[in-house]
Amino acid sequence: MIITIRKSAPKLEVEKLIKELESYGVKVTHVVGENHDVLGLVGDTARLDENRIQANDAVRKVTRIAAPYKLANRLFHPDDSVVDVAGIKIGGRENIVIIGGPCSVEGKEQIESIAHSVKEAGAVMLRGGAYKPRTSPYAFQGLQTEGILDLVEARRLTGLPIVSELMSADKLEEFEQYVDLIQIGARNMQNFELLKALGKSKKPILLKRGLANTIEEWIMSAEYIMAAGNPNVILCERGIRTFEKYTRNTLDLSVIPVIKEKTHLPIVIDPSHATGDYRYVEAMSLAAIAAGADGLIIEVHNNPECAWSDGDQSLKPEKFARLVEKCRAIAHVVGREIK
Ligand code: PEP
Ligand code: MN
Repeated sequence: MIITIRKSAPKLEVEKLIKELESYGVKVTHVVGENHDVLGLVGDTARLDENRIQANDAVRKVTRIAAPYKLANRLFHPDDSVVDVAGIKIGGRENIVIIGGPCSVEGKEQIESIAHSVKEAGAVMLRGGAYKPRTSPYAFQGLQTEGILDLVEARRLTGLPIVSELMSADKLEEFEQYVDLIQIGARNMQNFELLKALGKSKKPILLKRGLANTIEEWIMSAEYIMAAGNPNVILCERGIRTFEKYTRNTLDLSVIPVIKEKTHLPIVIDPSHATGDYRYVEAMSLAAIAAGADGLIIEVHNNPECAWSDGDQSLKPEKFARLVEKCRAIAHVVGREIK
């Protein structure tokens, strides 16, 4: 961190500031210049609050050089993290993981039928929402515990680990008992109390990017979970809000190389919520694999016209199977494999 000091700043004030900064354990080098002085800070500056420093009358400008995240930072962890979800490895250079399933669990028969179809198509994990974050309070809110138990039964029949969205910490115990990968939805990406609670869990977390969050904010949310003690975080890009109306969201595929450079965490792409239209899901899936994604999470429904949520963006099982085949070809080209 570099702090530029006003030339008019009283010497005593500058010395006081240096002492305070040093009390955080950082090393401060004071360079006296002709027009202004500069303080160069090295060490663990993540704990320093630049807004508070900026509020000091002696300070002209604060420039952060190091990223504000440590545990998620590739600098301090050069190797890719590989997260183990009930024996399925996500991350690393070789494997690409396909997750398929409906937006919402609608009952035993529906989830079991879809589970068998996605497994046959090549998915290694089953998704299904039981607690749904709906825009309208009048819309279907999910089957809740019953939905989770339906997923558990589908897992027993197919062997597929299950991923489902947790919306509040009071259901964490239920998820720890039954769910293999806990999804945190876009709307809860900055629910910091929930993130802290997840940090106390050992379960892997699929952390979706918020509707309108920067990459740094997203990484900081991962950092919350990691700082509280849980290193098993997988990032998931699901599109962000822009001015565009022809797609539900705008899929920001550029996050893949950026996340790979800045962090060591695996990244999965959700082309279903990103586009909001089943016609566009395949193209974006292929592009995501080509760009280096570690996995895809795709909405699949046996009868999309009658789905209780997100039918318009759900693929029928046959289309999903064709998509997985094409993804295999792209994965091969980039030196990876869909197992
Ligand atoms: C979902 O996965 O069904 C979902 C609601 O996702 P998101 O949080 O990305 O909107
Ligand atoms: Mn959905």
